[in-house]
Amino acid sequence: MTAVLVVGAGPTGLLLATELALAGVDVTIVDRALSRSGQSKALTLQPRSAEILHSRGLLEPLLDQATARVPGGHFAGLALDYTSWDTRFPDQLGIPQARIEEHLEAHLATAGITVRRGLELTGLTRASDHVVASFADGTTIRADWLAGCDGARSAVRTLSGIAFPGRDGRFTAVVADIVAQDNRPDAGGWQLPSLTPQDGAVLSLLPLENGVSRLLFTGPEQQNLPKDEPVGFDEVSRALTSWYGADVVLKEVLWGSRFTDAARQAEQYREGRVFLAGDAAHIHSPTGGQGMNLGLQDAFNLGWKLAAVVKGEAGDDLLDSYHAERHPVGAAVLANTRAQGVLLVPDDDVTCLRETFADLLAVPGANHLLAGEISGLGIAYAPGDHPLVGRRMPDLDLPDGSTVATRLRAGRPVLLDLDDFPSAARVLVRPDGYVRWATNNPNQPAPA
Ligand SMILES: Cc1cc2nc3c(=O)[nH]c(=O)nc-3n(C[C@H](O)[C@H](O)[C@H](O)COP(=O)(O)OP(=O)(O)OC[C@H]3O[C@@H](n4cnc5c(N)ncnc54)[C@H](O)[C@@H]3O)c2cc1C
Repeated sequence: MTAVLVVGAGPTGLLLATELALAGVDVTIVDRALSRSGQSKALTLQPRSAEILHSRGLLEPLLDQATARVPGGHFAGLALDYTSWDTRFPDQLGIPQARIEEHLEAHLATAGITVRRGLELTGLTRASDHVVASFADGTTIRADWLAGCDGARSAVRTLSGIAFPGRDGRFTAVVADIVAQDNRPDAGGWQLPSLTPQDGAVLSLLPLENGVSRLLFTGPEQQNLPKDEPVGFDEVSRALTSWYGADVVLKEVLWGSRFTDAARQAEQYREGRVFLAGDAAHIHSPTGGQGMNLGLQDAFNLGWKLAAVVKGEAGDDLLDSYHAERHPVGAAVLANTRAQGVLLVPDDDVTCLRETFADLLAVPGANHLLAGEISGLGIAYAPGDHPLVGRRMPDLDLPDGSTVATRLRAGRPVLLDLDDFPSAARVLVRPDGYVRWATNNPNQPAPA
């Protein structure tokens, strides 16, 4: 018996379990894999994800391991400047997914919580006051609440009967981390990361660390292979040669997998005592580098709410706000990745559209809008009767030497009395850093 069962120990499940553990909630986290894969589909943290980790003191150890700071982001390869947003983290931080997972898992262990591995969810019985999860090896776990963080093919989603409308992928592509020898006479390193049409394929090659490069490619051959077909050395070698010629020789494929631009979103993020978060709740093309970040932010939204309800500090209706707040954010990411997919189609007319888009993005307001969406800094929830309500609270320096982020470390709401923001204000900040209530009247009491 556990208060909350988290199924899936990817970045989403690990952060959710971390939040619940911080609140002192009895949490169990399981994963079907016997060990972490060590593979990183995502390579960067977007600014809002950096902010939320910073607000729990979880970012600092990762910063030491950052491989890069990528200024701004991109929309279908068109540069976005994040600096118009008020943030301490206006760059994408080069912190691969595997390091984030490793860090969160180690942090959980310090709270005495170990991921229970080798447990594949295969059955789910739901009652009005609990759920019972059953696993392939015969184990059962009874829980008050269950969070499905079990990725794109979520068993929790299927077993709960939650619809997953959207469309299938229009192409299948390969991601592979490789080591290759560059024998070109003018070998000066790889091209900059870009998506480039080549004989109906798009391809990018991005140098990582220690001689390893990240290759993304698609072509006619990939469309005929099933998604779970292992990525072969010869297949990668052919793709590399078609782009660089025989002078670039593939030495090793460290890992590879296939992905599509399928776009689907769970109709409900909550079904009674069951929640979906991360890829279990939404899938879309990786363009723009948003999927892992979206999942981390789902977890951060759900964690404090679930903790408050488990501890009897809030009513059940707080849990409905998880779907109400996060479903529109996911829908917006699906829409922007689909729009980016259109802008990347190798077609003369689309090139004209891209050029128009590039002109538009030179307008500061347009850049600010899309930068806010891709970075996550522009996310806002239901507005209230004060302009700050629903918005993300900037990480201000406070008179006592603390900052808003350091005040949030305990994962509790914070009431701030601000002398000039821009005028005197009292602001109640939720544990996830969004403004719950604000007033300019010093005599108005804050809500309980
Ligand atoms: C090519 C590519 C590039 C990407 N690049 C980026 C990027 O730059 N930036 C970005 O933000 N995102 C990126 N993403 C997306 C990102 O990798 C995913 O969104 C992220 O992994 C989702 O995390 P998650 O924890 O929700 O799910 P997952 O990482 O899929 O974790 C799910 C976990 O659940 C476990 N599990 C599954 N089924 C069961 C079961 N039945 N029982 C128990 N356990 C189960 C799995 O073993 C796994 O550990 C990219 C994706 C791809 C394909």
